[in-house]
Amino acid sequence: MPTTLPSALRPYLTPVHEKLWQETDAFAAEHVAPRVQRMEASSGKVERKTAELMAARGWFAVTVPAAYGGLGEGHVAKTVLIHRIAAVSGAAAAILQASQIPVGSLVHWGSHEQKCLWLPQIADGTVLPSIAVTEPEIGGHIGGMETVAERDGDSWLITGSKVHIGNSHLAGVHVVVARTASPEVSASRALTAFLVEHGRRGLTVQPHRPGLGLHGFSFGRLDLNRVRVPADNVLGNVGQGLNVAQSSSILYGRPNLAAVSLGLHEAIVHTTVCYLKKRPRYAGTLSDLAVVRDRIGEMEARLRAARTLAYQAVHLLDHGLSCDTDLINSKYLGHKWAVRSGRDAMELHGARALDADYPLQRLWRDVQHAYPPAGTGEFQRIHLAKAALREDPIQWSEHLAAETAWTRPVQQPTTLVEAGPSGCFSTRG
Ligand SMILES: Cc1cc2nc3c(=O)[nH]c(=O)nc-3n(C[C@H](O)[C@H](O)[C@H](O)COP(=O)(O)OP(=O)(O)OC[C@H]3O[C@@H](n4cnc5c(N)ncnc54)[C@H](O)[C@@H]3O)c2cc1C
Repeated sequence: MPTTLPSALRPYLTPVHEKLWQETDAFAAEHVAPRVQRMEASSGKVERKTAELMAARGWFAVTVPAAYGGLGEGHVAKTVLIHRIAAVSGAAAAILQASQIPVGSLVHWGSHEQKCLWLPQIADGTVLPSIAVTEPEIGGHIGGMETVAERDGDSWLITGSKVHIGNSHLAGVHVVVARTASPEVSASRALTAFLVEHGRRGLTVQPHRPGLGLHGFSFGRLDLNRVRVPADNVLGNVGQGLNVAQSSSILYGRPNLAAVSLGLHEAIVHTTVCYLKKRPRYAGTLSDLAVVRDRIGEMEARLRAARTLAYQAVHLLDHGLSCDTDLINSKYLGHKWAVRSGRDAMELHGARALDADYPLQRLWRDVQHAYPPAGTGEFQRIHLAKAALREDPIQWSEHLAAETAWTRPVQQPTTLVEAGPSGCFSTRG
């Protein structure tokens, strides 16, 4: 994959981001690319090594303030990491993105004690978190949640099941959202988030089952049978679980998934262009044919637009500006366009697309996985329609992101921004 920085991203990238872009590409070429084939061939296995290598660089703590040991570099930096890894492996990017969402929960909702306990461990790579919201029966309908937490003295007992939990098999701590009030209480007050350590009695992580794609990434099932956690493990306040889940999904989940789709989209276009330029036809190659070129033009148009949307949205977020709808849109259109280009790519490859050992079918399978997490397309359009109708709900970008350490005044020219105190992404350990 070419590693040149697209000019359209210059307004959003500081020298620190550019350095990170190069470091991520070098990492992906050295450590991720050689593992892709093995991950594909052994879909029943969870890819731990790549997770460890990324964790050792502190990349899971890219948005964690330096005061807690993190890189403190914000959402554009996070997008660079996920995007560039996804261009090489969707599964490795999924591992990186899935644990960022609970990092967001901790950064924005954790008490000082919780941050002091967990964020340094995430930063030094000893612990990865997961966020467990989705359930077998109610799926993405958080308000219908059936997992319950009952108060028992100084602790809570949590019972229920969570499915499709990103990094279920790698996480040392899970942010579990459960119902703490009766069903007639509004979801905005009835749910609570808990930090549940992996070793708690009564917590079972079911064996890893491979999915259609993202081989090596685990998104499995957690069963909780009267899992006891102390009251100190409540994340945010009792009754704020919906806010914890929604804000993390909007501020972290949406842009993360936009970055995953973007990396896969780039790989799809690159693979297709390389193929068409080599495939002989008549006096030249397939890429000389007008009808084929027309489709290549469509793919390139979508890719460029998706790239700008993804980076512009997180740039706004890093500047503490109201941008929930932009984050949602970048995930929605970024995925939709990647899938459209994926279909073009499959058709333009003819039968070659179907060869099991050809990378395109991996990209095609992987990109399907970016649709459900952090809200399906239906939910993004519901949010977008509210924005159009001026019925915007709470703007998490204004309420939470503006407080964070990496937020910079919007008028500050990005080119003058210095590297953070964390020392610019040097390799750790
Ligand atoms: C790769 C991957 C990683 C994931 N990671 C996590 C994670 O880390 N933590 C976690 O908690 N979950 C995670 N999920 C789960 C994800 O959040 C859910 O898949 C998503 O919320 C949708 O739930 P569902 O798949 O059960 O679909 P359902 O909720 O059953 O929906 C099925 C279909 O109906 C549509 N639909 C449902 N309700 C409505 C409505 N009210 N209006 C219009 N259409 C509707 C949906 O859009 C969808 O098309 C992950 C999923 C994947 C694939």
